[in-house]
Amino acid sequence: MFKVRFLAFLISMMLFVSCSTVPITGRKQISFIPQNQLITSSIDAYNQLLSQSKLSNDSTKKQMVAEVGAKIASSAEQFMRENGMEKEVETYHWEFNLIEDDKTVNAFCMPGGKIAVYTGILPVTQDENGLAVVMGHEVAHALANHGGERMSQVMLAQLGATSLSVALSSQPGLAKDLIMQAYGVGANVGVLLPYSRRHESEADHIGLILMARAGYDPRTAIPFWQRMGNLGGERPPEFLSTHPAPEKRVEDIRNELPEALKYYKEP
Ligand SMILES: [Zn+2]
Repeated sequence: MFKVRFLAFLISMMLFVSCSTVPITGRKQISFIPQNQLITSSIDAYNQLLSQSKLSNDSTKKQMVAEVGAKIASSAEQFMRENGMEKEVETYHWEFNLIEDDKTVNAFCMPGGKIAVYTGILPVTQDENGLAVVMGHEVAHALANHGGERMSQVMLAQLGATSLSVALSSQPGLAKDLIMQAYGVGANVGVLLPYSRRHESEADHIGLILMARAGYDPRTAIPFWQRMGNLGGERPPEFLSTHPAPEKRVEDIRNELPEALKYYKEP
């Protein structure tokens, strides 16, 4: 009995120390994977994915992706500085790449701010505002540490808290394997770990505020998601597959607009 109680105490302590708070929404989340391990692994996985991909040669589009990305990232950094997260700013190594793949209507952000946009999403984003919706959403996933939380949840379910901490310290490659799996990098891809609906809705919410703070009209998120919802197609993109139904999403965004508009200064 004592043993069981002690173990329960240990696990609850671990959960306690492994808890963090999501910026802007204030939600509590678990994250077992040490940030430095997560970031190093993420950079490796990102570079590997880029080396397996064809990058766009279109300098105008590349420049647009880099510019909008940099504005949204600096809006996230400004938010962190204003909210006592100066130390966290240093853990981000923002990078924005455009991958030439017209069939993939997608974008992703790995932990630490490694972002890729596929050319297939550009007809849907249409202009800088639409792209800012996508960037806001992706940067929000990074700011909220959704990648680390998602991996922690999966590992916790598979191994339990105690084994997980042992596994992470004894297998230095584990965090990288997880990221590779999560983002579908490499040949022996296991299960793709989709973000939960909660993560998606949270990324929409935070993204709206980031884009508004960066000077993009958050109201343009509504027509963007309506265009995404009308897409259909043979392979639903990350942007739609695990996401809330388009109507629900647009409704949520409409409800969050007044909050986002407080940060938006009309040019
Ligand atoms: Zn997402």
